[in-house]
Amino acid sequence: MSLPSVKLNETHDPELRSWVASANAEGCPFPVQNLPYGIFRRAGSDEAWRAGVAIGDRILDLQAAQAAGAFSGFDETARQAVHAAAQGATLNALMALDAPAWSALRLALSRVLRTGSAHQAELAACLVPQAGVEHALPAAIGDYTDFYTSIHHATAVGKLFRPDNPLLPNYKWVPIGYHGRASSIAVSGQQFRRPLGQTRAPDAQAPSLGPCRRLDYELEVGIFIGGGNALGESVAMAQAEDKVFGLCLLNDWSARDVQSWEYQPLGPFLSKSFASTISPWIVTLEALAPYRCAWTRAGGDPQPLPYLDSATLRETGAFDLQLEVLIQTSAMREAGQAPQRLSMSNFRDSYWSVSQLVAHHTVNGCNLRPGDFLGSGTQSGPRPDEAGSLLELSGGGKQAVVLPNGEKRLFIEDGDTIVMRAAARRDGLPLIGFGEAAGTVLPARSLPL
Ligand code: MN
Repeated sequence: MSLPSVKLNETHDPELRSWVASANAEGCPFPVQNLPYGIFRRAGSDEAWRAGVAIGDRILDLQAAQAAGAFSGFDETARQAVHAAAQGATLNALMALDAPAWSALRLALSRVLRTGSAHQAELAACLVPQAGVEHALPAAIGDYTDFYTSIHHATAVGKLFRPDNPLLPNYKWVPIGYHGRASSIAVSGQQFRRPLGQTRAPDAQAPSLGPCRRLDYELEVGIFIGGGNALGESVAMAQAEDKVFGLCLLNDWSARDVQSWEYQPLGPFLSKSFASTISPWIVTLEALAPYRCAWTRAGGDPQPLPYLDSATLRETGAFDLQLEVLIQTSAMREAGQAPQRLSMSNFRDSYWSVSQLVAHHTVNGCNLRPGDFLGSGTQSGPRPDEAGSLLELSGGGKQAVVLPNGEKRLFIEDGDTIVMRAAARRDGLPLIGFGEAAGTVLPARSLPL
């Protein structure tokens, strides 16, 4: 890697192998170069929720590893980071540290989990099979902001809502966002009832309350904030990524019929706040360093204002991260059929970068706190088949998507499971996987009186 703004170290060495054999399998999402964090316990147990690191098909229990003394030989920074990670039922304390502390912990984990580690014997007893666990949210999420960073999505959706005026004039200047609802964010496996909402049919005089009829997913990247900034202080582009603990997958479930009736003048509200599903693992920015790519702005488009621009942004501001969304209907589930792909896109096509979202969010002095969460907005690519929502794939609910078993979908039906996956790939480097964000829609509640 010849990009001076990407700092690589021994943890990125593609030759590294782990003594956890499954981590070395070709295409394993969790090689020793990944080391994502999550919160888990043995499924069905009443154990305390605790932090772990995915390695191969196992999880290293950080609390147990610390108790086994695996980190006692590391420096104070690393030991403090281990302590912060191991002490609670969320990752907030680890997120509250800074980028050098996260980096020290990653280095320590890499050293104890690679082949030749002197700690293999005691750490082998601290591994839990991923197949036997359940996850909780990785952090207590204080605030959640959802952005709208794909110009391809914004244009396609804008055409459906406003055929004559698809892209509003602020789009190319401001990273558009709205304040989302943190309380209804849940980890993969979330099941929720089809929301009720107020909608108005195009030919109707008055709206009515009923089950959402145009339920959709949004394929997004989730961004967990670490460190943070004091109220009244802004974060410059040069420091913005130091305020990001890591990335995950986000399905921002959306009730399109509710949204189209409510979204003006203040933006989405009940069309988004009933459920949001994230993947259990947070992949750190450091793990993604070898998969960075240039952020570009087409010559005919306005260049960003100086507070949203930097040389590092231009060189390596984007992430080459492949995103995928799949569906498993109840009929498919009953027939034993695996989820089928609906579309793929790539986070590198985002119009705004992660660093720009942090710089813009804080430019007015708004304070971001450890565990705060940002959504990237639906990631649709330039091609129609790279759409990150059913709204786009079905042309606004007009052309059904035909599934391999012959079923058709304009929008999501009861019993459907939507699965999202992501992976960073580069020739000669290991695959960095994100795991899955899966969620299932249940029938609506009966109407209140
Ligand atoms: Mn969204």
